[in-house]
Amino acid sequence: MNVSVKPNMTNHWMPFTNNRLFHEEPQMFAKAEGVKYWTPEGREILDGSSGLFCCAAGHGRPEIADAVYKQLSTLDYSPHFQRAAPVSFEFAEKLAGILPDGLDRVFFAGSGSEAVDTAMKMCLAYHRATGNAQRTRFVSRAWGYHGVNLGGTSLAGMVNNRRDFSGITCDVVHMRHTWTEEQKFTRGQPETDADLANDLEEICKTYGGDTIAAVFVEPIAGSIGTIVPPKGYLEKLRAICDKYGILLVFDEVITGFGRTGSAFASQAFAVKPDLITMAKALTNGAIPMSAVATSAEIQAAVFEAAGDADRPEFFHGYTYSAHPVACAAGIAALDIYAKDKLFERANELSSHFLDGVFGLRNLPHVSDLRGYGMMSGIQLTPGDAPGAKGSWAQRALFDEGLHVKATGDAIIFAPAFVSTEQDIDDMVAILQKVLGAPM
Ligand code: PMP
Repeated sequence: MNVSVKPNMTNHWMPFTNNRLFHEEPQMFAKAEGVKYWTPEGREILDGSSGLFCCAAGHGRPEIADAVYKQLSTLDYSPHFQRAAPVSFEFAEKLAGILPDGLDRVFFAGSGSEAVDTAMKMCLAYHRATGNAQRTRFVSRAWGYHGVNLGGTSLAGMVNNRRDFSGITCDVVHMRHTWTEEQKFTRGQPETDADLANDLEEICKTYGGDTIAAVFVEPIAGSIGTIVPPKGYLEKLRAICDKYGILLVFDEVITGFGRTGSAFASQAFAVKPDLITMAKALTNGAIPMSAVATSAEIQAAVFEAAGDADRPEFFHGYTYSAHPVACAAGIAALDIYAKDKLFERANELSSHFLDGVFGLRNLPHVSDLRGYGMMSGIQLTPGDAPGAKGSWAQRALFDEGLHVKATGDAIIFAPAFVSTEQDIDDMVAILQKVLGAPM
């Protein structure tokens, strides 16, 4: 393939991109298959980030393409307001089959950000329904990422995501993040620092536990560069939430669908939240879609409070909620995960993957390594300015044939579960080469 067309780039204002720099040296993908991308010029790039943690089963799965085509040709769109498509019930039932026990009520949305804001409103609706309308405050964590809608922007603990948008955000109190110097180069869950969960206890004492609707955390903080929770930390959060009647929400947009070696991180860490948000690998990244899962009890409380009124119990939804084509893609993705035993595969591949990651320890640009399941964070030594080293590494790795996402001065390395051991070795060799050489 050699598509040496240089498109007119004036009209597309690109998301999460320095548009002006991009125009100078465009990095583009024109094709993808398995664990590889190809540039428009035909250069092969290994995918070390599963796209953006989406394509767990690799790119270009024909099963998904066929299901999407079939659904598009049968029922391309279906509205809400007392209407629905059978495929949405089929998908919700299938999803319930892999969700943690008791979290089997599923509300669909279009993106991770929409799932987060939906979950926030669901928590508010639940408290209002159960006579606790005063619970309107949320708690999240420094370095957390929960999407870019107004709720998620308020929860954001990665300050750049909030910085330019103050004045429009909701009432959120932040706990500290869970990384400490002592944890450097820890593979898996750190043994120390579970007590950082007591930040929640302190917040409850300061603000009043009965003013707080919910605590939102990523079980493994993904977008900051894979921060794995200390042993016992999530358990403590659960216990404090129970003590004060606060809902616990796990944002599993990255950790869902096998990334930890279990279907959900909630199962990997054996801590059950009240709600789970998910997106990305829900459809293997092929069609935008997200979901919020919660319990029958929470759903029942909201339904009962609505009484017999002829109106939606939860006045919320999106035009593209439960889109039939996205549901068909999701069913096909879950079928692939089951047929190819990909969550088990992620679990098996993890030790080879983490061996590769932790083999980078002595490279001159590496200052910390973190990893769990099939996700890792490679922290780089600081450059001239915050983020400069990360940007350099992301570009240099691309030039050497590896796509990974940089976040600040960390690289998130999280390949697809269909990668072979050789694929992982090839990716690690490029990391070795770039991070071992002068900047
Ligand atoms: N929550 C988490 C934990 C995420 O990692 C992301 C995306 N990286 C989101 C929410 C937002 O998802 P989206 O970009 O699909 O809106």
